[in-house]
Amino acid sequence: MNNFIYKDQELYADDVSIRELAEQYGTPLYVYSKNHLKTQFEELTNAMAEVDPLICYSVKANSNASVIKTFLELGSGLDIVSGGELFRALRAGADPQKIVYAGVGKTEEEIKYALKENILFFTVESEAEAKRISDCASELDLTGRIAFRINPDVDPKTHKYISTGKKENKFGLDIERTITAYETASSLPNIEIAGIHMHIGSQLLSAKPFEEALTKVKELCVELKDKYPTFKHIDIGGGIGIQYKPEQEALSPKVYAEHVIPILKTLDLKVVMEPGRNLAGNAGILVSTVQYVKDNPFKKFIVIDAAMNDLIRPALYQAHHEILPIAENSETVFGDLVGPICESGDFLAADRDLPAVKQGDLLAAMSAGAYGFTMSSNYNSRPRPAEVMVDNDKAFIICERETFEDIIRKETL
Ligand SMILES: *Cc1c(COP(=O)(O)O)cnc(C)c1O
Repeated sequence: MNNFIYKDQELYADDVSIRELAEQYGTPLYVYSKNHLKTQFEELTNAMAEVDPLICYSVKANSNASVIKTFLELGSGLDIVSGGELFRALRAGADPQKIVYAGVGKTEEEIKYALKENILFFTVESEAEAKRISDCASELDLTGRIAFRINPDVDPKTHKYISTGKKENKFGLDIERTITAYETASSLPNIEIAGIHMHIGSQLLSAKPFEEALTKVKELCVELKDKYPTFKHIDIGGGIGIQYKPEQEALSPKVYAEHVIPILKTLDLKVVMEPGRNLAGNAGILVSTVQYVKDNPFKKFIVIDAAMNDLIRPALYQAHHEILPIAENSETVFGDLVGPICESGDFLAADRDLPAVKQGDLLAAMSAGAYGFTMSSNYNSRPRPAEVMVDNDKAFIICERETFEDIIRKETL
């Protein structure tokens, strides 16, 4: 499942003791395993080798510079969703010709930035956006390469907040509208039709919806390819699910590949992929220290120094994170694992068997490498945690803990 294992009853990331990291850098603390990032990337690359895809790591999953750089060193491209992510991508040394840019609300400023940097293509969510890209490109005397994002209306059977490929979602164009959208766009100045895009949702544990979506757009691709000589890419998005619970089976890249490759091979287009969670999710944990163990007549509360501002997934998606004690211990107590924030939604685990711990003990929320730190905030004026990258027996601080001064830096009195 991951690179976090017990050795002599103490949790390690590869060959580094989590306790020692907590003592050195304090808690709450994000810890990532570089080896896990690498093996995930390699596993996906190998599974998809037959179609030799351009894998564009989805930066929003974990946008730390060192994480991005780890993937760039393996030959990865990047999938971005904002000007800020483009800035991060370029700063980490990404080749703009391996950057694809998604999102329903790209501003003029963001579009111009990406045009000037000459990214591979924009994944476009509406005709109005194609028009805006054309206007910006004309003004700059550049060419905007675009791939419309199609909403194939399939049910990814995931949490409704991370489903994006159903007709009621805000993303993409419905298939019926696609041909005319391409016709409209192709008549616009300074636009080049680069391909087609889909991203149907996140944390899919079955490969069926991916296959279903591809089956739905297959004919369309053939038609578009005939019509537009520059139509060369099929971007199949991200969404490959990972294991969050011991009884859950991850969607293996191999099974995913078996479902999508037969269709992709018939299309003879350059395949682009945008995995995020699959690459980074199980590469990270959030380490915290128990502050209080509180009993009320109904329930036990374990109060830790990590909170919803550090890891919002449980509050936002009812997401499950395994909670492990740093000192191995099979004893459990039933209750909630909560943070110090003034919200009842501030929990990392609710109504569950939790490790029996006492004040000062260390706990880890597992599978926190994706949509963890990137979704963190300063709510309750809490400085964001530090991030550490473990590389075999070495550990590097890859983002320092914020200070109170950092939090108020931009404010005036
Ligand atoms: C978020 C996102 C991804 C990554 O999704 P994962 O489920 O993390 O693989 C890929 N493509 C687009 C367009 C996205 O918005």
